[in-house]
Amino acid sequence: EKQISSNFIRNIVINDLESGKHKEIITRFPPEPNGYLHIGHAKSITLNFELANEFNGKTNLRFDDTNPMKEDAEYVESIKEDVKWLGFEWNNLYFASDYFEEMYNRAILLIKKGKAYVCDLTAEEIREYRGTLTEPGKESPYRDRTIEENLELFEAMCKGKFKDGEKVLRAKIDMTSPNINMRDPVIYRIAHVSHHNTGDKWCIYPMYAFAHPLEDAIEGITHSICTLEFEDQRPFYDWVVNECEMESKPRQIEFARLNLTNTVTSKRKLKQLVDEGIVDGWDDPRMPTISGLRRKGYTPESIRNFCREIGVSKSNSLVDEQMLQHFIREDLKVKSPRTMAVLRPLKIVITNYPEGETEMLEAENNADNPELGSRQIPFSREIYIEQEDFMESPVPKYFRLFPGNEVRLKNAYFIKCTDVVKDENGEIVEVHCTYDPETKSGTGFTGRKVKSTIHWVDAKHAVPAEFRLYEPLILDEENEGESFLDNINHNSLEIVNGFVEPSMKDSKVQDKFQFFRHGYFNVDPRYTSKEKLVFNRIVSLKSSFKI
Ligand code: ATP
Ligand code: MG
Ligand code: MG
Repeated sequence: EKQISSNFIRNIVINDLESGKHKEIITRFPPEPNGYLHIGHAKSITLNFELANEFNGKTNLRFDDTNPMKEDAEYVESIKEDVKWLGFEWNNLYFASDYFEEMYNRAILLIKKGKAYVCDLTAEEIREYRGTLTEPGKESPYRDRTIEENLELFEAMCKGKFKDGEKVLRAKIDMTSPNINMRDPVIYRIAHVSHHNTGDKWCIYPMYAFAHPLEDAIEGITHSICTLEFEDQRPFYDWVVNECEMESKPRQIEFARLNLTNTVTSKRKLKQLVDEGIVDGWDDPRMPTISGLRRKGYTPESIRNFCREIGVSKSNSLVDEQMLQHFIREDLKVKSPRTMAVLRPLKIVITNYPEGETEMLEAENNADNPELGSRQIPFSREIYIEQEDFMESPVPKYFRLFPGNEVRLKNAYFIKCTDVVKDENGEIVEVHCTYDPETKSGTGFTGRKVKSTIHWVDAKHAVPAEFRLYEPLILDEENEGESFLDNINHNSLEIVNGFVEPSMKDSKVQDKFQFFRHGYFNVDPRYTSKEKLVFNRIVSLKSSFKI
């Protein structure tokens, strides 16, 4: 696998260990269980786990489940599965909701110190009072409530005495701060909703910006890595850790999120695609989710290598999705057997081949990997080739099969086209050829040359298969400002029916192959049945992309 390269976060960790600031580093991956993980999360997972692994530290998987409205146990399970599948083991598994009691107590501490107050302004009023980048905020008329009154009101909030939105608890900092996040941010809100973990125990929930630093500090996280949007939150993060008198002082470090071309990396948008039935689930092979990539045929190694290659930086950039494709090609190139599949079949009858006879031909599984061995493939009088490998009236520079022309059948013989058989509508039904026994593959025949080699599958032994060919689901946004749903590619899935060689008859779901000339394919775990193999194309064989 690729090596982890140096980056600014790794350097901070090295310094902190060398200076003795920390004896051990502890990181965390803190997803909100409101959707499935996507390729952007893979970047954060790889970074957090590998950083800790490299220095014998620890990484927690923590569900940041402080917002009960959007969270679900299904997401918790999928996230655990995806992190494990990517190849990482967490030290501890935590739920932020397990800290609700402690967070509540820390909020009380703030009130007692005169650092928090209950405010009756509506959400809209709070927004108006907050001011702008150029204008300072205005103080809430409730800002000077006494500590006793605040304690009483906050307790009443907690006991369910008020309706949603009637009151909030706010930090008391500075309404004139140049950093808007420091202008008395809301730290608790009322929400009479059941929580997937704590049920109906609470009707007040901490805001993310207050909860997150506490979660990190409670777990003794040393380096709390998050994306750049949180840079402006860092002063409040530190304020919470200090004013709540947390023993451990985690350090927040921001890095640039991963953005990929033709890809949305936002759980909210991905959920929309699922809810509106644009895809067949979170694991649709067109989805940039970890489960979608897995179902399409990506391997954990390819995703990890991709994450290492893109690296970690402080400036946002857009990564070409072809880079991700590059890493799956690299991974499967030597790992997967090279077999033959005919996606759009055309029947060939080899008229000089004895009727009723079948011979077995030897084929190497992967010329770059002798360990994969070889297999036997049947050959007889009738075979299928690709429709596009035959032209009745060839265009210039067409070297594949056409009347009078000879081509090589991969692993078999030369065949020459003699006749075209059509139905009453003039459609081609089958093509007749003759073969030359002298040209058998592996015999070292050098008598004459042909300009092209095509693949084929023996008709009698062919295994029917469905092939799912993908294009990007999202076309790159030219029309800025409109909904991303306007950029959906309606031709992102093409389904064709053809055949694979009999050696693949007993393929299992998630088995991966390189189909000669067609690319890398994965056996689909959802639609494959006893009756029919279904293959997802992961990626075509070649790309012009260079890294
Ligand atoms: P989304 O907008 O998709 O919901 P999020 O950041 O809200 O993303 P979380 O579940 O809160 O999702 O994310 C867990 C962790 O993954 C966070 O630390 C977050 O910074 C990181 N993360 C999310 N998206 C990306 C991305 N595109 N690139 C890098 N890291 C990401
Ligand atoms: Mg988030
Ligand atoms: Mg989010």
